Amino acid sequence: MTTTAEAITRTIPVARPCVGPEEEAALCDVLRSGWLTQGPRVAEFESRFAEYVGAEHAVAVASCTTALHLALLACGVRPGDEVICPSLSFIATANSIVHAGATPVFVDIEPGTYNLDPARIEEAITLQTRAILAVHQLGLPAALDPILAIAARHGLPVIEDAACAVGAEYFGKRIGAPHGALACFSFHPRKILTTGEGGMMTTRDADVAARLRRLRQHAMSVPDTARHVASQVVFETYDEVGYNYRMTDLQAAVGLVQLRRLDGFLAHRRYLAARYSERLSKLPWLVPPTEPAGHKHNFQSYVVRLKAGARGALIGRDALMQALLDRGVATRRGVMAIHREVPYRNASGPDHADWEQRLPQTAAAADQTIILPLFHQMTEEEQDYVVDSIQNIGQDIGAGARR
Ligand SMILES: *Cc1c(COP(=O)(O)O)cnc(C)c1O
Repeated sequence: MTTTAEAITRTIPVARPCVGPEEEAALCDVLRSGWLTQGPRVAEFESRFAEYVGAEHAVAVASCTTALHLALLACGVRPGDEVICPSLSFIATANSIVHAGATPVFVDIEPGTYNLDPARIEEAITLQTRAILAVHQLGLPAALDPILAIAARHGLPVIEDAACAVGAEYFGKRIGAPHGALACFSFHPRKILTTGEGGMMTTRDADVAARLRRLRQHAMSVPDTARHVASQVVFETYDEVGYNYRMTDLQAAVGLVQLRRLDGFLAHRRYLAARYSERLSKLPWLVPPTEPAGHKHNFQSYVVRLKAGARGALIGRDALMQALLDRGVATRRGVMAIHREVPYRNASGPDHADWEQRLPQTAAAADQTIILPLFHQMTEEEQDYVVDSIQNIGQDIGAGARR
């Protein structure tokens, strides 16, 4: 058992970005260069990123939310359209659909992978369906082959919300290599590769990439970088309503360093995740994450599920999180269910009670899962402390139940 003093003095965070002197130096270089916003660093980050994931084109933006918005626009999603997506995701997945003027239509997940259940997609397709937005939740690739087959049968583009999935692989190919029409990544500090805030879209289609480059920068026909180096006076035009969704060169410079370190981050996360699973699988009341054949997880998050009705699980998810926090271990609930939030409860679809009925696996996963601490600098000793704390809490509850 832990002493109270220890519990009070230590805190193990759920996540922590890994940035150091190399990122600091890269930032100083940009500050001294005279070009701060989208410029040469962004261009270099895009080409390195495209190379890394195996895509023809990569287009950087301010966040994954803005990436998803532009991806939907580039796929022709317009007001009145419907887009299929999971409810078990971060709210930005559905918000991006609303930003494009369309309506999210939620489809349930597979209980083991927390990703879209391909068997439930077809029944949600209507004449208004314009695209499928598949999420690689927590860094585990969704069942892309069956999803792409359904999409092809119905002539629908697949957009991948790969916010968490940098470095994850689907049958030997990295996410972001052309699977769907477009993949969108996040570089928020909760993700594995961070630029503070930032996002990236990848695609095989040169015309789509060119349109995305215009849209992110006010739909400007000649970018400022080109005008800056032109020997003749050039005037740009604006042929549609665009956005300011640019990434800055400051962010891209950090991203270039993080990309060089990425394989190291990934290897260590997979090592720590395997170590968690080995120890936690001994607890009959917890379900560690699964990795179906051909799906390679990057473990952006390590999520466990409380087995409903099992003795240790008697404590309940929220009480377990509190008991861990009392011992200095920060956790988060697993992925949220978007349909439970105010803007989506009744929004032009079935009402909240209907969604709860239609999405039983989503509701169960949202209630029963916990994200445990996992970050690059985490020590084995810290990890053991987390596992021991869970074990001790479970034993206390078990003893209480027997009394
Ligand atoms: C983090 C996340 C987003 C949002 O990414 P931002 O870069 O913060 O906009 C979208 N979808 C999923 C699944 C996420 O995890």
